[in-house]
Amino acid sequence: MIICDTHCDTLYMRALQPQETPCVTMEAMRAGGMSLQTCTLFAGSQGVNGQPYQKAMAEYAAFERLERDEGWQKVNSPLEAEDGKVKILLSVEGGEIFEGNPARVQEFYERGVRMAALTWNNENEIGFPAKGGSREGIKPQGWEILKEMARLRMAADTSHLNEAGFWDLIDRHSQPPMASHSCAKALCDHFRNLSDDQIRAMVKRGGWIGVNFYPYFLRSDGQATVEDIVCHIDHMCQLGAQKHVGFGSDFDGIGCTPVGCESPAKISAILEGLRCRGYSEAAIEDIAGRNFLDYYRRLGWTA
Ligand SMILES: [Zn+2]
Repeated sequence: MIICDTHCDTLYMRALQPQETPCVTMEAMRAGGMSLQTCTLFAGSQGVNGQPYQKAMAEYAAFERLERDEGWQKVNSPLEAEDGKVKILLSVEGGEIFEGNPARVQEFYERGVRMAALTWNNENEIGFPAKGGSREGIKPQGWEILKEMARLRMAADTSHLNEAGFWDLIDRHSQPPMASHSCAKALCDHFRNLSDDQIRAMVKRGGWIGVNFYPYFLRSDGQATVEDIVCHIDHMCQLGAQKHVGFGSDFDGIGCTPVGCESPAKISAILEGLRCRGYSEAAIEDIAGRNFLDYYRRLGWTA
């Protein structure tokens, strides 16, 4: 079975938080049967003033060390994912890394980046974060970045983006958007989670959503177990997302993990939870990885 995960902060941890111990290791990914782990280049928490480009480059250097010393292998296309092999997809989190310059999009594309979260929790050249509740949409400069992303078939990731920006992308972007690490607001009322209307719109537009494993996005009291991950996936499926949902763990970017799913080694516990709810093997394979690859096919990737 091909298993994909669309968000972890392991490269930031390795490059900029050396005192921490990452849970996303080659050993854990192999143990969990992971096929494609997305590793993000995170802009850092200081936004446009925090040297986001330099931080991303430090994280990219950390990835190159993993390639050289530990055999991590990057894909050029997500469709290179295969059962039984662990491969890495690179993404960006925080569009301030592009510094408002479309040429930077191509620069990161050439390094292997195939997905970019337009904002983190700060306003940048592209738009506004969900945090803070701004009602302003995508900025004119943001559309220039988005146009270049669409040309390169780079996924536009709405996780962390505000609602006005989200609806701008649904209505006006030439490619279907996605949310790499977001949960359902109906089950846990947090500004980072998606409303039922947003989930339905993502389905209708041909997008994709990766359910986040952060206990405080899964349950307001933070007392989450692997069963809560299953509940959020099931809720999205009830809204029609059976072919549009999967995993966006956020491992190594969250201070705590749900009981029973503490690292990529435990990912099969979610599959088991879906089985217990009566999901067919075909539906489980869709959620585990096929839906994510089909999303990239809709962006125009063929191999
Ligand atoms: Zn994030």
